[in-house]
This record gives sequence, structure tokens and C-alpha cells, in this order.
Amino acid sequence: MKYAFLLGLSLLFVSCNTAQTSSKKKGKDQTITDYANTITSEDLKTLLYEFADDKMQGRMTGTDGQKMAAAYLKDFYVAQGIEAPVEKGDYYQEIPAEYFGRMSEPKPSENVVAFIKGSEKPDEVIVLSAHYDHVGTRDGEVYNGADDDGSGTVGMLEIAEAFQKAVKDGNGPKRSILFLHVTGEEIGLYGSRYYTENPLFPLENTVCNLNTDMIGRIAPDKKDSPNYVYLIGSDRLSQELHDVSAAVAKEYSDLELDYKYNAENDPNRFYFRSDHYNFAKNNIPVIFYFNGVHEDYHKPTDTPDKIEYDLLRKRTQLIFYTTWEVANREGRITADKDKIQE
Ligand SMILES: [Zn+2]
Repeated sequence: MKYAFLLGLSLLFVSCNTAQTSSKKKGKDQTITDYANTITSEDLKTLLYEFADDKMQGRMTGTDGQKMAAAYLKDFYVAQGIEAPVEKGDYYQEIPAEYFGRMSEPKPSENVVAFIKGSEKPDEVIVLSAHYDHVGTRDGEVYNGADDDGSGTVGMLEIAEAFQKAVKDGNGPKRSILFLHVTGEEIGLYGSRYYTENPLFPLENTVCNLNTDMIGRIAPDKKDSPNYVYLIGSDRLSQELHDVSAAVAKEYSDLELDYKYNAENDPNRFYFRSDHYNFAKNNIPVIFYFNGVHEDYHKPTDTPDKIEYDLLRKRTQLIFYTTWEVANREGRITADKDKIQE
């Protein structure tokens, strides 16, 4: 208890120090950076220790643990005063059991959705996504999935909180933002596929999808240069999205954007392996944020104590800044390239 408290304090000093020495807070960027700075290592840590706790039982699609995780997300949005996207909606997009045909005993599951309505172009929607399911338990061991994808999940909660603060100040986004926590990713990208087949807002009005899956760790081959994030897909459908993303990173972040896995001949095929692909195949520009696989990937040792919280903060803030730009810039991001077939 005491040790954790002290660690929390030291992280606090680190993040304050970064904020004070940053020259990027001046002038016209003051407001945006102030909102970005509400995303803190301490908040991310507090959320992730709860979200990836053993009581969530590894969040396997259709289980009580997954339902508990869904309720946790919903409660967060209710507490923030962020509404469900559908009138009289309850934050759950229900997916019937039959949809999960590949499972041995299919059970119903649900995506969790929250919505901030744009002030000027409410019909144009940016979708942020992260999967909140994981692989459950095996031989009595809980697979906590702290990085996969607890990290992206709590990052999205913090981004939502930052935007909601801007809304309360009268600085809400011009375009709408849908916070989409998808289920069924680990068993075959079901939740995101279901969403794109049953969208809450027309796909033709969906500006882009920024998807986050594993952003809290350092891949083994990056130990010597850990200040990075992998970006995949940013230029596949829209050169404009790629350029905006790169410009935002240059202005607001010191992270290295590594495009190694974006190579079209990359044997890992990550572009096809997380939820953004269901948007990309519908010609919606995407960016996939990712730290690469590591020694605890899909093991019971993917636990919250192994997360690099200051790096998680930086990556989350980068996604926040990028979302802010695509939500507020004058012109809508367009798909200016041909889509790539799987
Ligand atoms: Zn994942």
C-alpha cells in the first residue's frame, strides 16, 4: 500500500515537470494542451488496476467477467455525464448469441458506447475504438489483459473525460465523437464487425476510426528507444489523415511514430488483425495505435504492474490531440486513396 502510494507520487512529479518545461503550452495551444494534461499517469493507473483486476476474470466474451467490465465502462460514462449515443439508449449495443457462431456455446454480448455530440457538424462522427474483452481464465489463472487491451480501454476513458471537460467549458468538438468499446475482438473481431454492419451512425458520415490495441508496454526490440508508438494504416486510405496525424505528433508530442508494421508486405499483417480493419474495409480511414507484441502477450502475466504508465500517458495524449484535430479542423478528412483488399 505504502509503496504504491509513493510510486504514485513520483509519477505525479514526473508529469508535472514535463508539463512545466514544455514549450508547447503557449499561445493558441493553451487550451488544447490544458485538456490533454488532464490525462495523467495516475488516473490511467488507477483505472487500469481496477479494469484489469482479477475480479474481471479475464473479460472473456459472454462471461460474467465481461459483463462486469461492461458495467464498469458504463458507470464511468454516467459519472462523467457523457451520454449514450442513442436516444433512451443505455450505453450497450446488444449483440445476439447467434452472431458469435464460431464459439462452442455462443452467448450474447455487448459493445459499450458513449457519445459526445459535435457543436457545428454533429452528423460527422469520429469513432474511437478499443476492445474491452480478453481471453478469460485457464487452469484457474486469470488472464488480466492489462496491456491487451486494458491500456487502450482506459486511454479512451481518459480521452472522453478530457473532451467532456472541454464541452463543459464551451470548447466541445465541432464534430461528434463516438467512444466505442468493442467486445469479441479476441475471438475474431466480432464486436467491431457487428458495429460496422449495424452502425449507430451512417458509415458514410463516419470520418475516421482511431483504434487503440495495446499501448502500455515496450516491445523487446524497442528497449533501447522506448519513446515510440507504432502507427499502422494511417496512409492506406487517406494521405490527408496520415499527414494530419504526423503534423499533430510533431507539434504536440515527443514520441517517435514508427511505421515499421505499416509496410504492405509486413508478414505480421497487423493491419488486418484488430478492430480498425472492419472500418477500413468500408473505406473509412483508420489509424491503429500499437506497442507491438511482448513476452507477456496473451499470458496470465499481462498485469497492470508491468505497464509503463508515463508512456501510456504520452500515447493517450497523442491520440487525444489527433482526435481533437480531426474533430475541429475545417475540412472533413477524406478517403483519397483506393482501399486495400485482404
Ligand atoms: Zn488486443
